[in-house]
Amino acid sequence: METTCEVCVVGAGPAGLTLALLLARSGVSVTVVEKATTFDREYRGEILQPGGQAVLDALGVLAGARARGSLELTHFQLVDGDRVLMRVDYEAFPPPYNILLNLPQRHLLTELLEHCQRFERFGYLPGNKVTGLVWEDGRVAGITTVGRNEKWTIRSRIVVGADGRYSKVRRLAGLPFDRMDTYEHDLLWFRLPVQGRVQPEDAVQIVLTDQQPIVVVRGYGDTVQFGCALPHGGYPELAKHGVEPVRERIIRALPAYAPLMESLASLHQTSLLDVFAGLARRWVRDGLVLLGDAAHTHSPFGAQGINLALQDAVLLHPLIMRALSTGDLSVLEQFPRRRLPGIRKTLRFQNTQARMLMSKSPLVAFLRPRLAALMPRTPAFPKISAYIAYGDPEIKVRSDLFTPDSSEGVHAHH
Ligand SMILES: Cc1cc2nc3c(=O)[nH]c(=O)nc-3n(C[C@H](O)[C@H](O)[C@H](O)COP(=O)(O)OP(=O)(O)OC[C@H]3O[C@@H](n4cnc5c(N)ncnc54)[C@H](O)[C@@H]3O)c2cc1C
Repeated sequence: METTCEVCVVGAGPAGLTLALLLARSGVSVTVVEKATTFDREYRGEILQPGGQAVLDALGVLAGARARGSLELTHFQLVDGDRVLMRVDYEAFPPPYNILLNLPQRHLLTELLEHCQRFERFGYLPGNKVTGLVWEDGRVAGITTVGRNEKWTIRSRIVVGADGRYSKVRRLAGLPFDRMDTYEHDLLWFRLPVQGRVQPEDAVQIVLTDQQPIVVVRGYGDTVQFGCALPHGGYPELAKHGVEPVRERIIRALPAYAPLMESLASLHQTSLLDVFAGLARRWVRDGLVLLGDAAHTHSPFGAQGINLALQDAVLLHPLIMRALSTGDLSVLEQFPRRRLPGIRKTLRFQNTQARMLMSKSPLVAFLRPRLAALMPRTPAFPKISAYIAYGDPEIKVRSDLFTPDSSEGVHAHH
């Protein structure tokens, strides 16, 4: 089967769907291809920073996504036993987005997709994987996909790779990706019901232990999510001993959460996530552009990935509009030029944080609590915290490019 559109977006994650909605609202015909058939799956972290909340609000999807169910967290903290070494109070930021929002991705993505689907010129092909690029006159002119019972050729003027950290589009376009090894570790990730057994902190917490740190997040739906960092490739060793050492490790580091551990009966309840960061050396090539995790991959430290993916979409939107109206695809090159300094800054910050938290060097282990306690007192701390929360303050949704009444979906079903 064959279809034609102006922009073909691969990947219906936060980056892809946000860009698709911005373009649909600007009257562009967009087709989104997504390999998963449904949004009902387990995701990685789901914490949305204030900057990302602002983007969604400007797009008219924040309230609807939140109404599907979400949880407001008030602070981030780094703890060591009973001691809070560092705390960032989100309530101290200016309203209205002064919370850490735990927003289940399925709620966010469903809301974004429903808004996109109000536009007649929006197309969605779930259950389809990208398999190849269509080249024409030396530029990318579309993609090919395969689904369970169908194969598509989608012709488009621009192809967007928003297909995440293992991006197939990136590989097909031959754009090299540099993995940053300093981050490498695995995360054993699981969610347990609270059922009145503990009073979870309204926070995202990193808990220092005598081994690797543990991430604890109060979750939507009366749950707590735990992420136990493991040395990269350390799972087989852990699995030999079953779930008991994991329970013991949490009870030792977080005695207040011990009553929840009776719900952790087996390692089957956990998923193992490969955590890494990295950067594609080029994001743009002949009518193809990467954004979100496909262009720059982030570790969970600082809950930055979704925020950055949303802001990428906002920055790319006017450039795609210009490329479509002038036919000059070289304007897409402005996207990495404008975006890379901020992304590098975030990666550097996350790298430093990861090194400080994960290093096994006895010296770093000794200094860790002291440095963490000192950091909030440095003059740079408020600036760094604001950057983590808001990202690049210059990146604003260009609603002037939207077609009149696009909030209702002007091209909606008649
Ligand atoms: C353990 C962990 C915890 C994290 N916690 C947080 C957090 O709390 N807050 C935060 O902001 N960030 C967090 N992040 C980072 C965050 O998950 C990502 O940065 C973010 O999801 C990037 O969005 P994206 O749209 O670029 O990519 P993704 O969310 O990865 O979406 C890519 C989409 O493309 C689809 N796709 C992939 N391949 C193909 C293909 N071949 N064909 C078609 N479709 C395809 C995928 O199914 C997916 O739907 C975390 C990361 C990790 C590893």
